Amino acid sequence: MPDPLAWISDELDTLDALSLRRHLQTHEGPQTATLMIDQQSFINFGANDYLGLAADDQICAAAITAIQTEGWGSGASPLVTGHGHSHAELEKKLAEFEQTEAALIFPSGFAANVGTITALASKGDMIFSDEKNHASIIDGARLSGARVRVYPHLDVDYLENLLSQAQPFRRRLIVTDSLFSMDGDLAPLAELAALAEKYDAMLMVDEAHATGVFGEQGRGVCEHLQVEDRVPVRVGTFSKALGGHGGFVVGSQALIDWLANRARSYVFSTAAPMAGSAAMIQALEIVKAQPHRRQELLERSKQLRQSLKQQGWNTGTSESQIIPVYIGQPEPTMKATQYLKEQGLFVPCIRPPSVPEGESLLRISLSFAHTPAMLEQLIEAMREIRTKLVT
Ligand SMILES: *Cc1c(COP(=O)(O)O)cnc(C)c1O
Repeated sequence: MPDPLAWISDELDTLDALSLRRHLQTHEGPQTATLMIDQQSFINFGANDYLGLAADDQICAAAITAIQTEGWGSGASPLVTGHGHSHAELEKKLAEFEQTEAALIFPSGFAANVGTITALASKGDMIFSDEKNHASIIDGARLSGARVRVYPHLDVDYLENLLSQAQPFRRRLIVTDSLFSMDGDLAPLAELAALAEKYDAMLMVDEAHATGVFGEQGRGVCEHLQVEDRVPVRVGTFSKALGGHGGFVVGSQALIDWLANRARSYVFSTAAPMAGSAAMIQALEIVKAQPHRRQELLERSKQLRQSLKQQGWNTGTSESQIIPVYIGQPEPTMKATQYLKEQGLFVPCIRPPSVPEGESLLRISLSFAHTPAMLEQLIEAMREIRTKLVT
């Protein structure tokens, strides 16, 4: 009998041949500035744990206490019986932190984007999406049934042209990452807000990589660029700088009520464990009480970008703790990653389909948890690669 899935092996072989096949790596122990893989310790430049909170003692203690009082599983989706005390408390604290009327917690940032976009736009509407938006935004837009127009990265003139022709549509939704996850650059949020106002569009901003890192108080790029009151729909995730898991939306009470009724990834998915929310209440406290974590992180990012540029590397337009080093073809990029690994440095190689053909890169993620010596080691290894592998 022929194997109906035989085509998959062929496809995997093709990926192998193109240096595009990905493999799971398992680490032991906690996610910190170092990572233990196959009994070997690596300096971790791959995690999104920007503030070094993923294994924080106080956060872990908060989760343990919550397990003792609220148990582990949530039991159901939020509207049935799944919305527990710590969920409600986190939503309250999050709205206070973000200075919005209300907040809603989703099972993941991916679910927050898919659920929110599909609740805001449908057939008869038009969505405008930056070409470098996260996959969850792309998938939400596809699933919504609305017409989708993708505009070139950060190109507000192109977007304005699209918007000027979109008035016959019932509603318009502009959606963008605030801090782009591969390039580490920032969206022109003031310009986008002006366009949204001029062309009567909703503006939705995904702060996944910026929450806890950007802004005086750590609320993100909307705060940093002083446009919070012009962005009615703000998405974030607990899974990056806050060191936890889950996504959220903040905004008006009406928006949150609507999402709780209509965002299918909220309504039809079991609420995350209460203990995860208790942990994130503690993470918010740390973000509020310890601004030096984000300040030092951004300062070190700037210094590392300068060092890499001096060595001749192209770090593009990054302005953040996400520092891409563009190499181009997947094979030399893989080699660079392999070399770094031999030096005890874990730096992910990003290849198609995560980025377009010819734009393979090393993605360096900085964390507050890295020591100066760790950064020195990275700079030294990158210098060696520059002379040995890439000319
Ligand atoms: C990581 C990420 C998400 C998804 O968040 P998860 O909590 O990991 O599901 C959404 N948007 C952007 C921009 C991200 O980088």
